Amino acid sequence: MNKKIKSISARHILDSRANPTIEVEIITDDNTLGRAAVPSGASTGALEAHELRDNDSSFNGKGVNKAIENVKTTISKSLVGIDVTDQNEIDKTLIELDGTDNKNNLGANAILAVSMASMRASANLQSKQLFELFPNIYGQPSLPVPFMNILNGGAHADNSVDIQEFMIVPFGFETFDNSLKAGVEIYHTLKKRLKTNKLSTNVGDEGGFAPNFSSSKEILDEIMQSISEAGYDPGVNVSLALDVASSEFFEDSFYKIEGNQLNSIEMADYLIDLTTKYPIISIEDGLAEDDWDGWNYLTDKIGKNIQLVGDDLFVTQEKILQKGIDDKCANSILVKVNQVGSVTETINTMMLAKENRYTSVISHRSGETEDTFISHLCVGTSSGQIKTGAPARSERTAKYNELLRIGELVGFEKFNLQNWGHV
Ligand code: PGA
Ligand code: ZN
Repeated sequence: MNKKIKSISARHILDSRANPTIEVEIITDDNTLGRAAVPSGASTGALEAHELRDNDSSFNGKGVNKAIENVKTTISKSLVGIDVTDQNEIDKTLIELDGTDNKNNLGANAILAVSMASMRASANLQSKQLFELFPNIYGQPSLPVPFMNILNGGAHADNSVDIQEFMIVPFGFETFDNSLKAGVEIYHTLKKRLKTNKLSTNVGDEGGFAPNFSSSKEILDEIMQSISEAGYDPGVNVSLALDVASSEFFEDSFYKIEGNQLNSIEMADYLIDLTTKYPIISIEDGLAEDDWDGWNYLTDKIGKNIQLVGDDLFVTQEKILQKGIDDKCANSILVKVNQVGSVTETINTMMLAKENRYTSVISHRSGETEDTFISHLCVGTSSGQIKTGAPARSERTAKYNELLRIGELVGFEKFNLQNWGHV
């Protein structure tokens, strides 16, 4: 078996929001191919790894020609000839080549596309499934509980709702496919109810509906009704989760939400109150990315019972997660490969999370492609939870569909109910 990288090429493709993104192909000496494409966020954390864009007159400045050039020149020169199965060495080389903390030189999009494509080539070369190459951080390979974002607000929708994502969590099932089915049935029931009430059934970036509601409670009530009407039991087999994405409406030390100005403690108390009224098991970015005191307060109050997920807070970075662990902030981390920019760093962050009893929620971005890397990441590491939108829009269903394919290999009953929601 000749495992050496023979060539690396790159092109732009389009993401789900009509923006260019980078796709890389790696070919080994024995002509094995590995291909990967990177996603892109909208409500991005301030400390995310650098996404290199052209900032010129084409594609509204969003072109990725510079990143493509970096792959074809600097990166190619250093990686051709390296063993494609040595992911650590490949990622180490990429990080050193860039030489900055946040991948400012070559671009995290360029680096990540190469990192992911090499892992794919490695799996293909060994005739393995991609998920088989990940360390089993949380346990043996298993299918995740889906966190399905069925109602959208915030930066992902044009309505006036401040909280970004209202998710259903169909946890109380024996198998992954039945969990997914419940989510799909609830999604359809919600659509029917919105139509009956003459509300918009247009969808936001992640496939959830984005009608105009006046308050979060109204939305949560609507979802509770939809769960029941679809024949399921809220809190018994289907719970709720929020991604507040509160950094988006945190200004001058206040949270501007639903016409109110809340200070940090008031914002935390508002969320705590919601958890007493609804079967919410997980809250992501309930407080802003630089409101560490607020995070500590919220974690102290409800962190024993509710999963508190740091997305913008941790941006998948080991050092920042360590600060959260030291400061007793959150008990879970959202894992987005492009926030950190390489496979190895993603794995290291998840290992630190596991060592400190933090759960890991694997996540898509609001700008996605048909790449299904995260489905494999989730199964291989057995993280137990995936956030990949509503069961609509092909870039979202691609991830669910890949999980259905993987389910045939690992068994649908390998449905991870240990590492999800309840902490
Ligand atoms: P983003 O949103 O991809 O736009 O950052 C997803 C999230 O906040 O979880
Ligand atoms: Zn988020």
